[in-house]
Amino acid sequence: MSFEELLKDKNGVVYKAYETARKAHAGVRRFNGEPYFNHSVAVARELAEWGLDENTVAAGLLHDVAEDTAYGLENIGKDFGEEIAFLVDGVTKIGRVKYRGQERQIESIRKMILAMAEDLRVVLIRLADRHHNMRTLSALPAPKQRRIAQETMEIYAPLAYRLGMQRLSGELEDLAFPYLYPNEYKWIIHNLKYHYEEREKYLNKVKPLVEKALAEGGIKPFLIDFRAKRYSSLYKKLLKYDMDISKIYDLVAFRIIVGTVEECYATLGIIHKLWPPLPGRIKDYIAMPKPNGYRSLHTTVLCLDKQIVEFQIRTEEMHREAENGIAAHWAYEQSKGSKQYARRQASVADSKEIAWVEKLRSWQQDFSDSKEFMDALKIDFFKDRIFAMTPVGEIVDLPDGATPVDFAYQIHTDIGDQCVGAKVNGKIVPLDYKLRSQDIVEIITQKNKKPSPAWLQFAITSKAKSHIRSASKNKDVLLKSRLAATEFKIIALDRIGLLKDVTSAVSRSHINIQSSSSSSFGRGNLQLLKIKCDVIDKSKVSKLLIKLKGIEGIKEIDWRTI
Ligand code: MN
Repeated sequence: MSFEELLKDKNGVVYKAYETARKAHAGVRRFNGEPYFNHSVAVARELAEWGLDENTVAAGLLHDVAEDTAYGLENIGKDFGEEIAFLVDGVTKIGRVKYRGQERQIESIRKMILAMAEDLRVVLIRLADRHHNMRTLSALPAPKQRRIAQETMEIYAPLAYRLGMQRLSGELEDLAFPYLYPNEYKWIIHNLKYHYEEREKYLNKVKPLVEKALAEGGIKPFLIDFRAKRYSSLYKKLLKYDMDISKIYDLVAFRIIVGTVEECYATLGIIHKLWPPLPGRIKDYIAMPKPNGYRSLHTTVLCLDKQIVEFQIRTEEMHREAENGIAAHWAYEQSKGSKQYARRQASVADSKEIAWVEKLRSWQQDFSDSKEFMDALKIDFFKDRIFAMTPVGEIVDLPDGATPVDFAYQIHTDIGDQCVGAKVNGKIVPLDYKLRSQDIVEIITQKNKKPSPAWLQFAITSKAKSHIRSASKNKDVLLKSRLAATEFKIIALDRIGLLKDVTSAVSRSHINIQSSSSSSFGRGNLQLLKIKCDVIDKSKVSKLLIKLKGIEGIKEIDWRTI
């Protein structure tokens, strides 16, 4: 039911919450001059659009009442019952963070994980809240804008993605992007608008051919349209491809929505009959959904006039889930009849879709040091995932860039420790081979074998690294690990003296530079510096990072141990 429909019921809880919030926020204005109450309504409306239940929508209306107005939590409990009070309290608690800087991030992530495991709806309200705050961010003072945009990019967008809410995740990133990368944003607008437009013109020529072929194949699609790549994700991809737009094939992709799973595969066949697929670019996320639940068929073909085009094919249900993720799933469960939502239930965390919530919760207890937890989170949780398979078809979920060693430790510690080699798709590969999705990986083991400290140079999951380290604590290891290095990739606004400032920050930290290089992009406005240093000690690296971040013009720093 839409928000307006819910509101029509004058005896309903949504109407009651609407009136209560309206009175409680009366006379208060937001930074942009609008009545504060508009914010409450926007949040509630979005929750209704996601198909969530009345109580969640009501809690959305009341979410800022407990903390910001005289009408406190106790009154909410009395007037609206325990469940709504619990939801509002949960949202308020997540928002209340004491610390600043990195500590602050860690604190809010921890809070969100705990809230999620208790009742996912708390986090959904928080996401709707952040979405509206981002849409009205321009009214805030500049330093605040940056901080909120940063937090959105680092925490909220990846979280939404992990919950399968791709549309929300993409919108949050796009809203944050101009605040975090104003120059890059301008550059994209300036240079790429034309490409988008050309691309759409071209796809409009292709569309009738697709429609005709589908009709001949007896398939009536619900929808054929294009999906333009978002600026924020385009920028990330451009960085990977040396800012070369011609290498980005999915700038605008086709999206075909059909009735059934069978029709998805039939459509794929029809497309491939029209145009040859590029090898290695067919992805079956229906048979093997992404860890966030995303299902679809993707293929990239050599299309009309030898241009490369990506197609995404899915059913309506998959489409809805791809857009709204866990919220869609949750709404669906509810419409099946379990109207009485057993509150604070663990069932949400039990469901397969977010088994990782549980994993994450137990995981964060393993880290005594919160910095360590944050680092691991950034690598293992927020980064892009790949999934490889064991020879018996078990899927192993790994971060992008994972090697057979990471794979082995993911299956079992003993397999990791005793690993001596690996076969990928039937062929022997080196242990530092970078795995790709759908690779079938067979680990060759040998009894009583010990892990090699040299693996630390390429293993990337924290699980693998900590086992390798603990299994090989001796002088020999330290000596060898000293051979390893850390590579910093720094993106900065170009200026005279930039490289000198960077290198002297490194030498002031008593760290040797093995090599360095720089190249410019973005019409010469930006520099990409690559600095390889003799350091792998995490605390030294993070101290250096702080120094580097303080240097004028530095936009982004990425680092990895090699
Ligand atoms: Mn709010």
